[in-house]
Amino acid sequence: MRSVKKNVLLNPGPATTTDSVKYAQIVPDVCPREEEFSSLLSVVLNKLTKVVSSSEDYTSVLFGGSGTAAVEAVFASAIGDNDNVLIINNGAYGKRMCEIAQIYRINFHEYCSPADEPIDLLKLKKVILEESKITHIAVVHNETSTGLLNDLREIGRIAKELRLTFIVDAMSSFGAIPIDMALDYVHYLCASSNKNLQGMAGVSFVICEINKLHQIKPIRPKVYYLDLFSQYQFFVEHRQTRFTPPVQVIYALYQALQELDREGIDNRYRRYVRSWEELTNSLKEMKIEYLVNDAYHSKIITAICMPTGVKFDELHQYFKDRGMTIYPGKNSDSNTFRVANIGDIDYEDIKLFICYFKEFLEQ
Ligand SMILES: *Cc1c(COP(=O)(O)O)cnc(C)c1O
Repeated sequence: MRSVKKNVLLNPGPATTTDSVKYAQIVPDVCPREEEFSSLLSVVLNKLTKVVSSSEDYTSVLFGGSGTAAVEAVFASAIGDNDNVLIINNGAYGKRMCEIAQIYRINFHEYCSPADEPIDLLKLKKVILEESKITHIAVVHNETSTGLLNDLREIGRIAKELRLTFIVDAMSSFGAIPIDMALDYVHYLCASSNKNLQGMAGVSFVICEINKLHQIKPIRPKVYYLDLFSQYQFFVEHRQTRFTPPVQVIYALYQALQELDREGIDNRYRRYVRSWEELTNSLKEMKIEYLVNDAYHSKIITAICMPTGVKFDELHQYFKDRGMTIYPGKNSDSNTFRVANIGDIDYEDIKLFICYFKEFLEQ
């Protein structure tokens, strides 16, 4: 197997992949309605579910599409006209859920919370009770715009107490930060193939409590392709997706899931945290600030304050010429750029990043 030029992607997905994941896409042509592909898909769905649940009460529903498709599927097909979703907005991805709700004319209440501080749970609960008709609550687990990690366990506790359906966008935490859907009382959890799973881009999925799926059957979906129940039912009956899946991306995902099994989620997160410590310790030494206190940081993506006088485009090009890709900031209140320490990279790559960063600042 010839090795492929390694680019260090410091953008928050698609992440750097192993050569074995890249090469797993090279397979004989196959019709995805054939038994061999059904078997592969069944294993993949099962492995995805097992990342966040050890029980038989949950299942994965997969779509071809980027991660946003999974979030959109939940909003457009699992929420009824008489429901009312409280969406926690403490960053760009929380805001995106509000935009999705708006497009589909879903009743929602936008709960704004500071972008760099934990959610005030007492206040959150008070607002839910005052609003009275709230039926669902939605939150982003790891806010990819800042690295703020929202506390699923505590929000889940509120959801359970108030009997709310709990929707989580776990796109940038899935596969690294441990989640237990039953313990955290999560009913729908959205993620994708190309972040911590270290697979190729093109697969998004929702892990659902099976009971909930049956309850949404009577809801009239607002979307055709991203209909969660129809996709689930079709797979139960035919072991196929309703429409053409990204075949080769799913072969790569299978390989990526095997590599996750081999490394283990805990070890993967440890590797990421080691990189993050390398990054933030160096930033502290360089007196460069980043958003969100370490105590509630996901340690997966960091929004770094742009040093005065530095233009993003110049910094980006400097790194790009050296095989590294940094990402623009997404926090409207501050001038930041982002560095994600996910994918098939480790602290040595981050050391090199810091080295280039210092070089750039000196010139
Ligand atoms: C990456 C990401 C998404 C999905 O983005 P796509 O570009 O559609 O893959 C959604 N939510 C969060 C929190 C993310 O990090």
